[in-house]
Amino acid sequence: MSFAKIPKPDELIRVKYDMPGKSWMNTPVDFRPGTWSHAGAAKNLTALDLPNPRAWQPSDEDWKLPENWQAIILAGMKERLEKYRSFRLFMDICVRCGACADKCHFYIGTGDPKNMPVLRAELIRSVYRRYFTTPGRIFGKLAGARDLTLDVLKEWFYYFYQCTECRRCAVFCPYGIDQAEITMIGRELLNLVGCNINWVVEPAANCFRTGNHLGIQPGGMKDMLEFLTDDIEERTGVRVEVPLNKKGAEILFITPSADYFADPGTYTCMGYLMLFHELGLDYTMSTYASEGGNFGLFNSHEMIKRLNAKMYAEARRLGVKWIIGGECGHMWRVVNQYMDTMNGPADFLEVPVSPVTGTRFENARSTKMVHICEFTADVIRNGKIRLDPSRNDHLRITFHDSCNPARAMGLFDEPRYIINNTCNYFFEMREDAIREKTFCCGAGAGLGNDENMEMRMRGGMPRAMAVKEVHEKYGVNRLACICAVDRATLPPLMEYWVPDVSVMGVHELLGNALVMKGENERPTDLRGYPIKETGTP
Ligand code: SF4
Ligand code: SF4
Repeated sequence: MSFAKIPKPDELIRVKYDMPGKSWMNTPVDFRPGTWSHAGAAKNLTALDLPNPRAWQPSDEDWKLPENWQAIILAGMKERLEKYRSFRLFMDICVRCGACADKCHFYIGTGDPKNMPVLRAELIRSVYRRYFTTPGRIFGKLAGARDLTLDVLKEWFYYFYQCTECRRCAVFCPYGIDQAEITMIGRELLNLVGCNINWVVEPAANCFRTGNHLGIQPGGMKDMLEFLTDDIEERTGVRVEVPLNKKGAEILFITPSADYFADPGTYTCMGYLMLFHELGLDYTMSTYASEGGNFGLFNSHEMIKRLNAKMYAEARRLGVKWIIGGECGHMWRVVNQYMDTMNGPADFLEVPVSPVTGTRFENARSTKMVHICEFTADVIRNGKIRLDPSRNDHLRITFHDSCNPARAMGLFDEPRYIINNTCNYFFEMREDAIREKTFCCGAGAGLGNDENMEMRMRGGMPRAMAVKEVHEKYGVNRLACICAVDRATLPPLMEYWVPDVSVMGVHELLGNALVMKGENERPTDLRGYPIKETGTP
Protein backbone atom coordinates (compact mmCIF):
# COMPACT_ATOMS: atom_id res chain seq x y z
CA MET A 1 0.00 0.00 0.00
CA SER A 2 1.32 3.45 -0.85
CA PHE A 3 0.77 6.60 1.17
CA ALA A 4 3.26 9.20 0.06
CA LYS A 5 4.22 12.50 1.66
CA ILE A 6 2.79 15.39 -0.35
CA PRO A 7 5.22 18.15 -1.36
CA LYS A 8 4.56 21.57 0.19
CA PRO A 9 2.27 23.98 -1.75
CA ASP A 10 5.12 26.30 -2.82
CA GLU A 11 6.86 23.27 -4.34
CA LEU A 12 3.75 21.73 -5.92
CA ILE A 13 2.75 24.96 -7.61
CA ARG A 14 5.95 25.01 -9.69
CA VAL A 15 4.53 22.93 -12.55
CA LYS A 16 6.72 22.33 -15.60
CA TYR A 17 4.88 22.47 -18.91
CA ASP A 18 7.85 21.42 -21.11
CA MET A 19 7.17 19.00 -23.92
CA PRO A 20 8.88 15.62 -23.35
CA GLY A 21 11.83 14.69 -25.57
CA LYS A 22 10.43 11.22 -26.46
CA SER A 23 7.30 10.32 -28.43
CA TRP A 24 4.26 9.93 -26.16
CA MET A 25 3.90 6.38 -27.43
CA ASN A 26 7.22 5.35 -25.86
CA THR A 27 6.90 6.61 -22.28
CA PRO A 28 5.80 3.78 -19.96
CA VAL A 29 3.91 4.82 -16.83
CA ASP A 30 5.70 5.38 -13.56
CA PHE A 31 3.29 4.50 -10.72
CA ARG A 32 4.73 7.15 -8.41
CA PRO A 33 3.28 7.01 -4.86
CA GLY A 34 0.69 9.71 -4.24
CA THR A 35 -0.53 9.72 -7.84
CA TRP A 36 -2.67 6.60 -8.14
CA SER A 37 -5.45 4.75 -6.34
CA HIS A 38 -5.39 1.29 -4.75
CA ALA A 39 -6.81 -1.63 -6.69
CA GLY A 40 -10.32 -2.94 -6.07
CA ALA A 41 -10.29 -5.52 -3.27
CA ALA A 42 -11.22 -9.08 -4.30
CA LYS A 43 -14.11 -9.24 -1.82
CA ASN A 44 -15.74 -6.20 -3.45
CA LEU A 45 -15.31 -7.55 -6.98
CA THR A 46 -16.83 -10.84 -5.83
CA ALA A 47 -19.76 -8.99 -4.20
CA LEU A 48 -20.45 -7.15 -7.45
CA ASP A 49 -19.95 -10.23 -9.61
CA LEU A 50 -17.08 -8.51 -11.47
CA PRO A 51 -14.41 -10.51 -13.31
CA ASN A 52 -10.98 -11.58 -12.04
CA PRO A 53 -11.13 -10.88 -8.27
CA ARG A 54 -7.58 -11.21 -6.87
CA ALA A 55 -4.98 -9.52 -4.66
CA TRP A 56 -2.93 -7.05 -6.73
CA GLN A 57 -1.80 -3.41 -6.89
CA PRO A 58 -1.18 -1.17 -9.93
CA SER A 59 2.48 -0.75 -8.92
CA ASP A 60 3.01 -4.56 -9.18
CA GLU A 61 4.94 -5.85 -12.17
CA ASP A 62 2.48 -8.71 -12.65
CA TRP A 63 -1.17 -7.63 -12.76
CA LYS A 64 -2.38 -11.25 -12.71
CA LEU A 65 -4.50 -10.76 -15.81
CA PRO A 66 -6.44 -13.53 -17.53
CA GLU A 67 -4.33 -15.26 -20.18
CA ASN A 68 -6.50 -13.97 -23.05
CA TRP A 69 -6.84 -10.42 -21.66
CA GLN A 70 -6.16 -8.71 -25.02
CA ALA A 71 -8.93 -10.73 -26.70
CA ILE A 72 -11.35 -9.86 -23.88
CA ILE A 73 -10.65 -6.14 -24.18
CA LEU A 74 -10.79 -6.04 -27.96
CA ALA A 75 -14.09 -7.95 -27.94
CA GLY A 76 -15.38 -5.47 -25.34
CA MET A 77 -14.24 -2.57 -27.49
CA LYS A 78 -15.98 -4.00 -30.56
CA GLU A 79 -19.19 -4.46 -28.62
CA ARG A 80 -19.09 -0.87 -27.34
CA LEU A 81 -18.23 0.60 -30.76
CA GLU A 82 -21.38 -1.05 -32.06
CA LYS A 83 -23.51 -0.17 -29.05
CA TYR A 84 -22.54 3.47 -28.35
CA ARG A 85 -22.58 5.74 -31.40
CA SER A 86 -20.97 8.50 -29.34
CA PHE A 87 -17.94 6.28 -28.64
CA ARG A 88 -17.35 5.49 -32.32
CA LEU A 89 -17.85 9.15 -33.22
CA PHE A 90 -15.40 10.33 -30.56
CA MET A 91 -12.84 7.81 -31.86
CA ASP A 92 -13.16 9.21 -35.39
CA ILE A 93 -13.77 12.95 -35.32
CA CYS A 94 -11.07 14.68 -33.25
CA VAL A 95 -9.17 17.10 -35.50
CA ARG A 96 -6.48 17.76 -32.87
CA CYS A 97 -7.21 21.48 -32.81
CA GLY A 98 -5.90 21.59 -29.25
CA ALA A 99 -8.75 23.73 -27.87
CA CYS A 100 -9.17 21.26 -25.01
CA ALA A 101 -5.46 20.79 -24.29
CA ASP A 102 -5.03 23.29 -21.45
CA LYS A 103 -8.58 23.02 -20.04
CA CYS A 104 -8.12 19.96 -17.84
CA HIS A 105 -7.29 20.62 -14.19
CA PHE A 106 -5.03 17.56 -14.16
CA TYR A 107 -2.96 18.95 -17.02
CA ILE A 108 -2.81 22.38 -15.37
CA GLY A 109 -1.78 20.78 -12.07
CA THR A 110 0.76 18.28 -13.44
CA GLY A 111 2.06 19.56 -16.80
CA ASP A 112 1.87 15.92 -17.95
CA PRO A 113 0.86 15.97 -21.66
CA LYS A 114 -1.08 12.72 -21.24
CA ASN A 115 -3.42 14.66 -19.01
CA MET A 116 -4.37 16.85 -21.94
CA PRO A 117 -7.85 15.61 -22.85
CA VAL A 118 -6.84 15.23 -26.50
CA LEU A 119 -3.97 12.94 -25.58
CA ARG A 120 -5.91 11.07 -22.89
CA ALA A 121 -8.38 10.11 -25.65
CA GLU A 122 -5.51 9.22 -27.96
CA LEU A 123 -4.43 6.48 -25.51
CA ILE A 124 -7.50 4.48 -26.49
CA ARG A 125 -7.94 5.95 -29.99
CA SER A 126 -4.51 4.59 -31.03
CA VAL A 127 -5.67 1.06 -30.13
CA TYR A 128 -8.96 1.64 -31.93
CA ARG A 129 -7.03 2.60 -35.08
CA ARG A 130 -4.79 -0.46 -34.89
CA TYR A 131 -7.60 -3.03 -34.63
CA PHE A 132 -10.67 -1.31 -36.11
CA THR A 133 -9.48 0.88 -39.02
CA THR A 134 -7.85 -0.08 -42.32
CA PRO A 135 -5.06 2.59 -42.28
CA GLY A 136 -4.18 1.59 -38.71
CA ARG A 137 -4.02 -2.11 -39.61
CA ILE A 138 -1.77 -1.42 -42.63
CA PHE A 139 0.41 1.51 -41.56
CA GLY A 140 0.56 0.97 -37.79
CA LYS A 141 2.45 3.76 -36.01
CA LEU A 142 2.53 5.89 -39.15
CA ALA A 143 -1.26 6.09 -38.90
CA GLY A 144 -1.16 6.79 -35.14
CA ALA A 145 -1.97 3.17 -34.30
CA ARG A 146 -0.38 0.92 -31.69
CA ASP A 147 -0.70 -2.59 -30.34
CA LEU A 148 -2.56 -3.30 -27.15
CA THR A 149 0.39 -4.24 -24.92
CA LEU A 150 0.62 -4.52 -21.14
CA ASP A 151 2.32 -1.09 -21.04
CA VAL A 152 -0.63 0.40 -22.92
CA LEU A 153 -3.07 -1.21 -20.50
CA LYS A 154 -1.14 0.21 -17.55
CA GLU A 155 -1.19 3.62 -19.19
CA TRP A 156 -4.98 3.39 -19.61
CA PHE A 157 -5.35 2.56 -15.94
CA TYR A 158 -3.11 5.41 -14.79
CA TYR A 159 -4.71 8.12 -16.95
CA PHE A 160 -8.35 7.00 -16.93
CA TYR A 161 -8.06 7.11 -13.15
CA GLN A 162 -6.56 10.58 -13.47
CA CYS A 163 -9.71 11.91 -15.13
CA THR A 164 -12.59 12.91 -12.90
CA GLU A 165 -15.12 12.67 -15.75
CA CYS A 166 -15.84 16.36 -15.05
CA ARG A 167 -16.56 17.29 -18.73
CA ARG A 168 -14.87 20.69 -18.57
CA CYS A 169 -12.87 19.88 -21.71
CA ALA A 170 -16.09 19.10 -23.59
CA VAL A 171 -17.30 22.69 -23.05
CA PHE A 172 -14.39 23.94 -25.16
CA CYS A 173 -14.33 21.26 -27.89
CA PRO A 174 -15.83 22.58 -31.14
CA TYR A 175 -16.99 19.04 -31.94
CA GLY A 176 -18.46 18.37 -28.49
CA ILE A 177 -16.13 15.44 -27.85
CA ASP A 178 -16.84 14.38 -24.29
CA GLN A 179 -13.73 12.94 -22.68
CA ALA A 180 -15.77 11.79 -19.70
CA GLU A 181 -17.62 9.37 -21.99
CA ILE A 182 -14.31 8.10 -23.35
CA THR A 183 -12.94 7.66 -19.83
CA MET A 184 -16.09 5.78 -18.86
CA ILE A 185 -15.60 3.35 -21.74
CA GLY A 186 -11.88 3.05 -20.87
CA ARG A 187 -12.76 2.16 -17.29
CA GLU A 188 -15.40 -0.31 -18.49
CA LEU A 189 -12.83 -2.08 -20.66
CA LEU A 190 -10.35 -2.25 -17.79
CA ASN A 191 -13.13 -3.64 -15.65
CA LEU A 192 -13.53 -6.58 -18.02
CA VAL A 193 -10.13 -7.92 -16.93
CA GLY A 194 -10.55 -7.05 -13.25
CA CYS A 195 -8.71 -3.69 -13.20
CA ASN A 196 -10.55 -1.09 -11.16
CA ILE A 197 -10.00 0.93 -7.98
CA ASN A 198 -11.26 0.19 -4.51
CA TRP A 199 -12.60 3.68 -3.88
CA VAL A 200 -15.15 2.96 -6.63
CA VAL A 201 -15.98 -0.71 -6.12
CA GLU A 202 -16.23 -0.63 -2.32
CA PRO A 203 -18.94 2.07 -2.16
CA ALA A 204 -20.81 0.27 -4.96
CA ALA A 205 -20.54 -3.07 -3.11
CA ASN A 206 -21.72 -1.39 0.10
CA CYS A 207 -24.74 -0.04 -1.79
CA PHE A 208 -25.78 -3.57 -2.70
CA ARG A 209 -25.22 -4.77 0.89
CA THR A 210 -26.84 -1.98 2.93
CA GLY A 211 -28.23 0.54 0.44
CA ASN A 212 -25.53 3.19 0.77
CA HIS A 213 -21.85 3.90 0.06
CA LEU A 214 -20.79 3.99 3.68
CA GLY A 215 -22.28 0.61 4.59
CA ILE A 216 -24.63 2.12 7.17
CA GLN A 217 -27.31 -0.29 8.42
CA PRO A 218 -30.94 0.94 8.69
CA GLY A 219 -30.61 1.34 12.49
CA GLY A 220 -27.45 3.43 12.04
CA MET A 221 -29.21 5.74 9.61
CA LYS A 222 -32.13 6.18 12.02
CA ASP A 223 -29.71 6.95 14.89
CA MET A 224 -27.78 9.50 12.84
CA LEU A 225 -30.94 11.31 11.78
CA GLU A 226 -32.02 11.40 15.42
CA PHE A 227 -28.68 12.93 16.43
CA LEU A 228 -29.26 15.61 13.82
CA THR A 229 -32.77 16.35 15.09
CA ASP A 230 -31.33 16.59 18.64
CA ASP A 231 -28.81 19.14 17.35
CA ILE A 232 -31.56 21.10 15.58
CA GLU A 233 -33.55 21.19 18.81
CA GLU A 234 -30.50 22.34 20.77
CA ARG A 235 -29.84 25.18 18.30
CA THR A 236 -33.45 26.27 17.64
CA GLY A 237 -35.69 24.83 20.36
CA VAL A 238 -37.81 23.19 17.65
CA ARG A 239 -38.26 19.39 17.62
CA VAL A 240 -38.20 18.03 14.08
CA GLU A 241 -39.35 14.50 13.19
CA VAL A 242 -37.89 12.58 10.23
CA PRO A 243 -40.33 10.10 8.66
CA LEU A 244 -38.62 6.87 7.58
CA ASN A 245 -40.05 4.25 5.19
CA LYS A 246 -43.49 5.89 5.44
CA LYS A 247 -45.83 4.24 2.94
CA GLY A 248 -48.19 6.56 1.10
CA ALA A 249 -46.14 9.74 1.76
CA GLU A 250 -46.42 12.25 -1.07
CA ILE A 251 -42.68 12.67 -1.64
CA LEU A 252 -39.63 10.42 -1.28
CA PHE A 253 -36.51 12.36 -0.30
CA ILE A 254 -33.18 10.81 -1.30
CA THR A 255 -29.80 12.33 -0.49
CA PRO A 256 -26.18 11.12 -0.36
CA SER A 257 -25.41 9.12 2.80
CA ALA A 258 -22.52 11.50 3.53
CA ASP A 259 -25.15 14.19 4.19
CA TYR A 260 -26.47 12.42 7.26
CA PHE A 261 -23.24 10.75 8.30
CA ALA A 262 -20.25 13.07 7.89
CA ASP A 263 -19.43 16.73 8.58
CA PRO A 264 -19.88 19.18 6.97
CA GLY A 265 -22.70 17.40 5.09
CA THR A 266 -24.61 16.90 8.36
CA TYR A 267 -25.22 20.67 8.63
CA THR A 268 -26.63 20.64 5.08
CA CYS A 269 -28.88 17.74 6.08
CA MET A 270 -30.07 19.72 9.12
CA GLY A 271 -31.04 22.49 6.69
CA TYR A 272 -33.15 20.08 4.60
CA LEU A 273 -34.89 18.64 7.67
CA MET A 274 -35.65 22.10 9.10
CA LEU A 275 -37.09 23.26 5.77
CA PHE A 276 -39.33 20.21 5.35
CA HIS A 277 -40.56 20.59 8.94
CA GLU A 278 -41.29 24.29 8.49
CA LEU A 279 -43.26 23.60 5.32
CA GLY A 280 -45.15 20.68 6.88
CA LEU A 281 -44.14 18.55 3.89
CA ASP A 282 -45.64 15.05 3.60
CA TYR A 283 -42.39 13.23 2.81
CA THR A 284 -40.35 10.22 3.80
CA MET A 285 -36.74 9.13 3.70
CA SER A 286 -35.88 5.48 3.09
CA THR A 287 -33.45 3.07 4.71
CA TYR A 288 -33.37 1.06 1.46
CA ALA A 289 -32.85 3.96 -0.97
CA SER A 290 -30.48 5.44 1.60
CA GLU A 291 -27.96 6.71 -0.94
CA GLY A 292 -28.36 9.37 -3.60
CA GLY A 293 -24.88 8.96 -5.05
CA ASN A 294 -24.21 6.51 -7.85
CA PHE A 295 -20.63 5.20 -8.00
CA GLY A 296 -21.74 3.06 -10.94
CA LEU A 297 -20.97 6.17 -13.01
CA PHE A 298 -17.27 5.54 -12.35
CA ASN A 299 -17.42 1.83 -13.10
CA SER A 300 -19.79 0.83 -15.92
CA HIS A 301 -23.11 1.63 -17.57
CA GLU A 302 -24.49 -1.63 -16.21
CA MET A 303 -23.60 -0.61 -12.65
CA ILE A 304 -25.15 2.87 -13.12
CA LYS A 305 -28.39 1.22 -14.15
CA ARG A 306 -28.46 -1.25 -11.26
CA LEU A 307 -27.80 1.41 -8.62
CA ASN A 308 -30.21 3.96 -10.11
CA ALA A 309 -33.00 1.37 -10.28
CA LYS A 310 -33.25 1.01 -6.51
CA MET A 311 -34.40 4.63 -6.05
CA TYR A 312 -37.33 4.01 -8.35
CA ALA A 313 -38.07 0.56 -6.92
CA GLU A 314 -38.36 2.18 -3.50
CA ALA A 315 -40.58 5.00 -4.81
CA ARG A 316 -42.89 2.32 -6.21
CA ARG A 317 -42.84 0.23 -3.00
CA LEU A 318 -43.64 3.22 -0.80
CA GLY A 319 -46.33 4.47 -3.16
CA VAL A 320 -45.06 8.08 -3.26
CA LYS A 321 -46.05 10.53 -6.01
CA TRP A 322 -42.60 11.90 -6.85
CA ILE A 323 -39.02 12.32 -5.58
CA ILE A 324 -36.89 15.19 -4.28
CA GLY A 325 -33.14 14.64 -4.51
CA GLY A 326 -30.62 16.31 -2.19
CA GLU A 327 -27.39 18.18 -2.92
CA CYS A 328 -25.47 15.55 -4.86
CA GLY A 329 -23.30 15.47 -7.97
CA HIS A 330 -23.31 12.13 -9.73
CA MET A 331 -26.89 11.29 -8.68
CA TRP A 332 -28.01 14.24 -10.80
CA ARG A 333 -25.79 13.41 -13.74
CA VAL A 334 -27.29 9.93 -13.78
CA VAL A 335 -30.87 11.17 -13.34
CA ASN A 336 -30.57 13.84 -16.04
CA GLN A 337 -28.49 12.02 -18.60
CA TYR A 338 -29.04 8.29 -18.21
CA MET A 339 -32.05 7.40 -16.06
CA ASP A 340 -34.65 8.02 -18.72
CA THR A 341 -33.33 5.46 -21.19
CA MET A 342 -31.93 3.06 -18.59
CA ASN A 343 -34.82 2.70 -16.14
CA GLY A 344 -37.37 5.23 -17.28
CA PRO A 345 -39.60 6.90 -17.99
CA ALA A 346 -40.98 6.57 -14.47
CA ASP A 347 -44.60 6.52 -15.62
CA PHE A 348 -45.89 5.00 -12.40
CA LEU A 349 -45.08 8.32 -10.61
CA GLU A 350 -46.78 11.71 -11.09
CA VAL A 351 -45.31 14.82 -12.70
CA PRO A 352 -43.99 16.69 -9.64
CA VAL A 353 -46.15 19.51 -8.34
CA SER A 354 -44.98 21.41 -5.28
CA PRO A 355 -47.62 21.04 -2.55
CA VAL A 356 -46.36 24.34 -1.13
CA THR A 357 -46.54 26.61 -4.18
CA GLY A 358 -48.45 24.63 -6.81
CA THR A 359 -45.52 24.90 -9.22
CA ARG A 360 -45.48 22.05 -11.75
CA PHE A 361 -41.92 20.91 -12.50
CA GLU A 362 -42.29 20.16 -16.21
CA ASN A 363 -38.52 19.68 -16.48
CA ALA A 364 -38.96 16.54 -14.33
CA ARG A 365 -41.84 15.20 -16.43
CA SER A 366 -39.98 11.99 -17.25
CA THR A 367 -37.71 11.38 -14.26
CA LYS A 368 -40.25 12.62 -11.66
CA MET A 369 -37.34 13.86 -9.63
CA VAL A 370 -36.77 17.47 -8.56
CA HIS A 371 -33.48 18.90 -7.32
CA ILE A 372 -33.71 20.28 -3.78
CA CYS A 373 -32.34 23.63 -5.03
CA GLU A 374 -35.15 23.90 -7.62
CA PHE A 375 -37.68 23.05 -4.91
CA THR A 376 -36.28 25.51 -2.36
CA ALA A 377 -35.73 28.37 -4.83
CA ASP A 378 -39.40 28.02 -5.84
CA VAL A 379 -40.50 28.10 -2.18
CA ILE A 380 -38.46 31.28 -1.59
CA ARG A 381 -39.66 32.94 -4.78
CA ASN A 382 -43.26 32.37 -3.70
CA GLY A 383 -42.60 33.85 -0.27
CA LYS A 384 -43.47 30.68 1.64
CA ILE A 385 -40.71 30.87 4.26
CA ARG A 386 -39.21 33.62 6.42
CA LEU A 387 -35.49 34.15 6.10
CA ASP A 388 -33.06 36.26 8.08
CA PRO A 389 -29.88 36.52 5.95
CA SER A 390 -28.10 38.50 8.67
CA ARG A 391 -27.69 35.25 10.61
CA ASN A 392 -25.02 34.40 8.04
CA ASP A 393 -23.21 37.72 8.41
CA HIS A 394 -20.19 36.01 9.96
CA LEU A 395 -19.72 34.24 6.62
CA ARG A 396 -18.35 35.64 3.37
CA ILE A 397 -19.44 33.18 0.75
CA THR A 398 -18.24 32.10 -2.64
CA PHE A 399 -19.91 29.34 -4.65
CA HIS A 400 -18.29 26.34 -6.32
CA ASP A 401 -20.48 25.07 -9.17
CA SER A 402 -20.20 21.32 -8.70
CA CYS A 403 -19.33 19.78 -12.09
CA ASN A 404 -22.28 17.43 -12.49
CA PRO A 405 -25.21 19.72 -11.57
CA ALA A 406 -23.50 22.51 -13.53
CA ARG A 407 -22.51 20.76 -16.75
CA ALA A 408 -24.99 17.87 -16.75
CA MET A 409 -28.11 19.85 -15.86
CA GLY A 410 -27.29 23.56 -16.14
CA LEU A 411 -28.23 24.19 -12.51
CA PHE A 412 -26.55 27.60 -12.18
CA ASP A 413 -29.18 30.05 -10.99
CA GLU A 414 -31.22 28.17 -8.38
CA PRO A 415 -28.35 27.72 -5.89
CA ARG A 416 -27.31 31.36 -6.43
CA TYR A 417 -30.90 32.46 -5.85
CA ILE A 418 -30.93 30.59 -2.52
CA ILE A 419 -27.52 32.00 -1.55
CA ASN A 420 -28.56 35.56 -2.40
CA ASN A 421 -31.66 35.18 -0.23
CA THR A 422 -29.90 33.63 2.74
CA CYS A 423 -26.75 35.70 3.16
CA ASN A 424 -25.58 39.28 2.70
CA TYR A 425 -22.00 38.65 1.58
CA PHE A 426 -21.69 36.62 -1.62
CA PHE A 427 -18.74 36.97 -3.98
CA GLU A 428 -18.39 35.19 -7.33
CA MET A 429 -15.11 33.72 -8.46
CA ARG A 430 -13.71 34.82 -11.81
CA GLU A 431 -15.81 34.15 -14.90
CA ASP A 432 -13.72 31.27 -16.34
CA ALA A 433 -13.91 29.32 -13.06
CA ILE A 434 -17.68 29.25 -12.52
CA ARG A 435 -20.93 28.03 -14.10
CA GLU A 436 -20.31 25.71 -17.09
CA LYS A 437 -16.58 26.50 -16.97
CA THR A 438 -16.29 25.55 -13.32
CA PHE A 439 -13.13 23.71 -12.21
CA CYS A 440 -13.42 20.25 -10.67
CA CYS A 441 -12.55 19.62 -7.01
CA GLY A 442 -9.84 17.31 -8.40
CA ALA A 443 -11.05 14.20 -6.58
CA GLY A 444 -14.41 13.18 -8.04
CA ALA A 445 -15.10 9.95 -9.98
CA GLY A 446 -13.67 7.82 -7.17
CA LEU A 447 -10.32 9.60 -6.88
CA GLY A 448 -10.98 11.13 -3.45
CA ASN A 449 -8.89 8.60 -1.54
CA ASP A 450 -5.89 9.22 0.72
CA GLU A 451 -3.28 7.33 -1.32
CA ASN A 452 -3.97 9.62 -4.31
CA MET A 453 -3.49 12.80 -2.29
CA GLU A 454 -0.71 14.46 -4.29
CA MET A 455 -2.71 14.07 -7.51
CA ARG A 456 -5.79 15.44 -5.74
CA MET A 457 -3.90 18.54 -4.63
CA ARG A 458 -2.51 18.99 -8.14
CA GLY A 459 -5.87 18.42 -9.87
CA GLY A 460 -7.67 20.68 -7.40
CA MET A 461 -5.13 23.50 -7.79
CA PRO A 462 -7.07 25.54 -10.41
CA ARG A 463 -10.22 25.44 -8.25
CA ALA A 464 -8.22 26.37 -5.15
CA MET A 465 -6.43 29.27 -6.92
CA ALA A 466 -9.77 30.80 -7.94
CA VAL A 467 -10.98 30.54 -4.32
CA LYS A 468 -7.69 32.06 -3.14
CA GLU A 469 -8.30 35.10 -5.35
CA VAL A 470 -11.70 35.88 -3.77
CA HIS A 471 -10.33 35.09 -0.33
CA GLU A 472 -7.55 37.66 -0.79
CA LYS A 473 -9.75 40.23 -2.54
CA TYR A 474 -12.98 40.03 -0.52
CA GLY A 475 -12.07 38.10 2.63
CA VAL A 476 -14.12 35.06 1.57
CA ASN A 477 -14.06 32.48 4.38
CA ARG A 478 -16.62 29.90 3.23
CA LEU A 479 -16.94 27.89 0.03
CA ALA A 480 -20.51 26.75 -0.64
CA CYS A 481 -21.32 23.84 -2.98
CA ILE A 482 -24.14 21.41 -3.81
CA CYS A 483 -22.36 18.05 -3.96
CA ALA A 484 -21.54 15.55 -1.22
CA VAL A 485 -18.30 14.49 -2.93
CA ASP A 486 -17.26 18.16 -2.95
CA ARG A 487 -18.07 18.44 0.73
CA ALA A 488 -15.67 15.52 1.31
CA THR A 489 -12.91 16.54 -1.10
CA LEU A 490 -12.85 20.35 -0.88
CA PRO A 491 -12.00 20.57 2.87
CA PRO A 492 -8.55 18.92 2.49
CA LEU A 493 -8.01 20.91 -0.72
CA MET A 494 -8.76 24.18 1.08
CA GLU A 495 -6.67 23.14 4.08
CA TYR A 496 -3.72 22.63 1.73
CA TRP A 497 -4.09 25.67 -0.57
CA VAL A 498 -6.32 28.23 1.22
CA PRO A 499 -6.46 27.21 4.90
CA ASP A 500 -8.74 30.07 6.04
CA VAL A 501 -11.64 28.88 3.89
CA SER A 502 -13.99 26.11 5.02
CA VAL A 503 -16.72 24.28 3.09
CA MET A 504 -20.51 24.08 3.38
CA GLY A 505 -23.66 23.02 1.53
CA VAL A 506 -26.14 25.62 0.31
CA HIS A 507 -28.88 24.23 2.57
CA GLU A 508 -26.69 24.85 5.59
CA LEU A 509 -26.91 28.56 4.75
CA LEU A 510 -30.66 28.12 4.44
CA GLY A 511 -30.87 26.32 7.81
CA ASN A 512 -29.02 29.21 9.47
CA ALA A 513 -31.29 31.83 7.93
CA LEU A 514 -34.62 30.00 8.25
CA VAL A 515 -36.91 31.61 10.82
CA MET A 516 -38.94 28.70 12.19
CA LYS A 517 -42.30 28.91 13.89
CA GLY A 518 -41.85 28.67 17.67
CA GLU A 519 -38.06 28.85 17.60
CA ASN A 520 -35.92 30.26 20.40
CA GLU A 521 -33.58 33.17 19.88
CA ARG A 522 -30.55 31.77 18.08
CA PRO A 523 -27.17 32.99 19.34
CA THR A 524 -25.24 30.54 17.12
CA ASP A 525 -25.38 29.07 13.65
CA LEU A 526 -25.93 25.34 13.05
CA ARG A 527 -22.24 24.64 13.76
CA GLY A 528 -22.44 26.41 17.09
CA TYR A 529 -20.44 29.46 15.91
CA PRO A 530 -21.70 32.76 17.35
CA ILE A 531 -23.85 34.83 14.98
CA LYS A 532 -22.41 38.33 14.95
CA GLU A 533 -24.36 41.52 14.55
CA THR A 534 -25.54 42.49 11.08
CA GLY A 535 -22.85 44.10 8.95
CA THR A 536 -19.90 42.93 11.03
CA PRO A 537 -18.61 39.91 9.14
S1 SF4 B 1 -10.99 20.31 -28.68
FE1 SF4 B 1 -12.07 18.50 -29.51
S2 SF4 B 1 -11.40 18.36 -31.65
FE2 SF4 B 1 -9.97 19.75 -30.61
S3 SF4 B 1 -8.30 18.43 -29.92
FE3 SF4 B 1 -9.73 18.53 -28.22
S4 SF4 B 1 -11.09 16.75 -28.50
FE4 SF4 B 1 -10.02 17.07 -30.46
S1 SF4 C 1 -13.37 15.17 -18.28
FE1 SF4 C 1 -12.38 16.61 -16.85
S2 SF4 C 1 -10.74 15.40 -15.89
FE2 SF4 C 1 -11.38 14.29 -17.75
S3 SF4 C 1 -10.00 15.04 -19.35
FE3 SF4 C 1 -11.83 16.36 -19.43
S4 SF4 C 1 -11.28 18.13 -18.13
FE4 SF4 C 1 -9.84 16.47 -17.64
